Amino acid sequence: MESTTIEPGKGDREKRVAIIGAGLSGLVACKECLAEGQDGGVEITADVFEARAEIGGQWAYQAEPDAATGELHSSIYDGVVLNSCRDTTGFSDFPVDPARHGDYFTHWQMHQYLLEYADHVNLHPHIRLSTKVLRCPQERTYDAVISAIGYNTIPLVPDFKGLKESFRDEFLHGHYYRRPGRFGGKRVAIIGAGSSAIDIACELVPGCREVHLVTRRGTWVLPRYCLGKPVEAWDNRATQIWMPARLSEWLQQKLLDVVQGPHPDELKPEHRLMQQNPTIRSEFLERVRTGLIKIHRADVDGFEGDHALVLSDGTRLEDLDVVIACTGYSRDQPHLPADVLRGNDDDDDDELDGGITNNPGPAPPAAEAAARYVVGAIAGHHVPPSGAALAAAIRSEQAWRRAAFVSSPRHANTETYVPYIDDLLAPLGADPTLGRLLAPRLLLGNHGSLLTGLRGLGAVYFDVTSNAQWRLCGRGAKPELAVETILRTARRDKEFSKREKELLGL
Ligand SMILES: Cc1cc2nc3c(=O)[nH]c(=O)nc-3n(C[C@H](O)[C@H](O)[C@H](O)COP(=O)(O)OP(=O)(O)OC[C@H]3O[C@@H](n4cnc5c(N)ncnc54)[C@H](O)[C@@H]3O)c2cc1C
Repeated sequence: MESTTIEPGKGDREKRVAIIGAGLSGLVACKECLAEGQDGGVEITADVFEARAEIGGQWAYQAEPDAATGELHSSIYDGVVLNSCRDTTGFSDFPVDPARHGDYFTHWQMHQYLLEYADHVNLHPHIRLSTKVLRCPQERTYDAVISAIGYNTIPLVPDFKGLKESFRDEFLHGHYYRRPGRFGGKRVAIIGAGSSAIDIACELVPGCREVHLVTRRGTWVLPRYCLGKPVEAWDNRATQIWMPARLSEWLQQKLLDVVQGPHPDELKPEHRLMQQNPTIRSEFLERVRTGLIKIHRADVDGFEGDHALVLSDGTRLEDLDVVIACTGYSRDQPHLPADVLRGNDDDDDDELDGGITNNPGPAPPAAEAAARYVVGAIAGHHVPPSGAALAAAIRSEQAWRRAAFVSSPRHANTETYVPYIDDLLAPLGADPTLGRLLAPRLLLGNHGSLLTGLRGLGAVYFDVTSNAQWRLCGRGAKPELAVETILRTARRDKEFSKREKELLGL
């Protein structure tokens, strides 16, 4: 593999941007850099450096660690089906094709979608594969560096007592899990209750002798569908922006109780439904209720003897064959100067982490909004807060977050999805406020009909949150395509509309 230190740029007037990583965040950042010039703004040259030999980041599946480097970037296992739905997951101006994708689709299809996106917006000439960025020196180099390295790569394993000294059976982090087959007939304990833990527990049930899941706090687990609609359709712009949070939460909790019955006591957390990132797996509760997955509501005390896991409530899980730790990932960005992630703040507040956020929704819309915000700043369309102002903003955000979300590393930087994207796009005038949506140009839609315009307005507020709503207005708007996509999504059509195909050049 080629390694690189980012080289000096050409001068102040020419914008040159280095992007680290060609996962979906890096790809959309590159596309937004190019779009800035194409839309008549600043010409930005973008160079994308990707450590691996292919693009797609997490979605470029790896069966095993890279033979040359020993590195394993992707955590995707064979059975991954997206837990965000087709109509929320695509990029705003390149919707996922409903003729080729179900409501929820496989990781293979997600990777293919990213390859098609890179072709569609012609990114390949800008990407250097097999080129790992080792560091970004602080002298003037590129005009800007966008780090898009993801954070599902460096597994975190707590320092469990007795693990190294005594435990003789297999112990692995969930990052290395790929398929259930080799665990057939075994007694397995899974530590953690995040999305991967829940998924892996379900995958292991059919073949394993016993599946235990150890969780300190419990968790809410949602089904993929509620009353025939993808579950995300019940949490939309109207519920996130207009409805008081407690009322929206109460309604959603009632809906869930109707759809899947009361949450099992051993799993029910003390925090409320909206205080955590959603975990989605339809059959999980059934497997808990039938006793196929045994929940232990406790912390891990340590490992004892050759085969036992001891829990804080005194339980000993004896004769285990395998323990899988789904205990999260490190957010280190070793190639960046340390102060970059601290908002350049001088004080020693370890909690200031320069705005790394955790979104309880699909990644592509959030990554795209972040890219538009950053490229907007690079091109001079707005001035982001810096130094003390940024530190103060992060602190006040964190105070709000501590009140709104359960306190844990996994939820440390969680945002509310729609308002978060609106906030990022507000400096570009691209947040679809009611005032903007009521403008005759938009309300009358592509078809010059008030009825169609009102349908579109209703879909933006009350239907599944299509990313196209953030292309209706402001800088980078593509209102005709956006309206077509929003209306087609609301109609639940199984293929693109004729006009949508024309606008997409298909
Ligand atoms: C099991 C699982 C299921 C998921 N399900 C969903 C889902 O249903 N919906 C959803 O929206 N999201 C889901 N996600 C989240 C997923 O991580 C994001 O969708 C997305 O992959 C994040 O993209 P990214 O570009 O930010 O990071 P990544 O995809 O991790 O890409 C980062 C890229 O940076 C490269 N890189 C890293 N360091 C360097 C360096 N120093 N130099 C050069 N290149 C470097 C890496 O090789 C990689 O290609 C899931 C994740 C997992 C693990």
